[in-house]
Amino acid sequence: MMCSGRVDMAHILRAFAKGADGVFIGGCRLGECNYTTHGNYHAANLTSLCKKILEHIGLNPQRLQIGFMSGGEGNLFAATVDDFCKTIKELGPIGRAGEISPAQLRVALAEVTRLVPYIKIVKHTKLTARLEDAADYDNHFSLEEIEQLFGEVVSYYIDPAKCQACMICSKRCPVEAIEGGKSQIHVIDQDKCIKCGTCLHACPSRFGAVTEIVGDPVPPPLPVEKRTILRTGSKGNKKNTPTKRALP
Ligand code: SF4
Ligand code: SF4
Repeated sequence: MMCSGRVDMAHILRAFAKGADGVFIGGCRLGECNYTTHGNYHAANLTSLCKKILEHIGLNPQRLQIGFMSGGEGNLFAATVDDFCKTIKELGPIGRAGEISPAQLRVALAEVTRLVPYIKIVKHTKLTARLEDAADYDNHFSLEEIEQLFGEVVSYYIDPAKCQACMICSKRCPVEAIEGGKSQIHVIDQDKCIKCGTCLHACPSRFGAVTEIVGDPVPPPLPVEKRTILRTGSKGNKKNTPTKRALP
């Protein structure tokens, strides 16, 4: 990539999911970015976060490393990559040396990948920090923090008693995780939901049908045959005005 700042958490996770035993990211020296974006700080933050996530799911965090150097430091680049390759060879293929098994890793990486947008929203402040010393990134994120992050993942749920089938949330959901249609109570497919929270804010406050659930299990989805809204006394009702309804 043209800039280390373009490396996304999903790229790193995909590399491991496809069987890479290690991932190395090379970026410009901190503070020497030619652009106002300073993407190398972003890469440093992201790598720090990903290393803790790898540790959390049972991988040696040494399998992911970042190095900072200028385009004129070919010798440093060669030495850094050489050291990295030696480290990975010592660690061996993923799944050895007391790490998570490849089968378990696939499941864990798929789950973390699904949560990438959520993780980036929750950790936005720290992911945009600029620490001056590269060594400070070692402890930018803590393992306890990551355990808390995954222990308090939010879920979004549409209360069937409040949903008025206005369809606003389903149009705004970025991953088409909301099932519904005209006169159909909307339901979130929890397997598709990336927990961005858009539906919570999109649902008109007069309906307030979307709720955020932390820690507790999400109620089961309303059966398809019970999702149709039968509006009564609709003559004269304005669009999106709550109406009485009966479920078959
Ligand atoms: S939180 Fe809501 S808008 Fe975001 S992905 Fe999940 S269902 Fe869609
Ligand atoms: S925006 Fe709210 S009321 Fe409208 S369909 Fe979605 S959950 Fe139902």
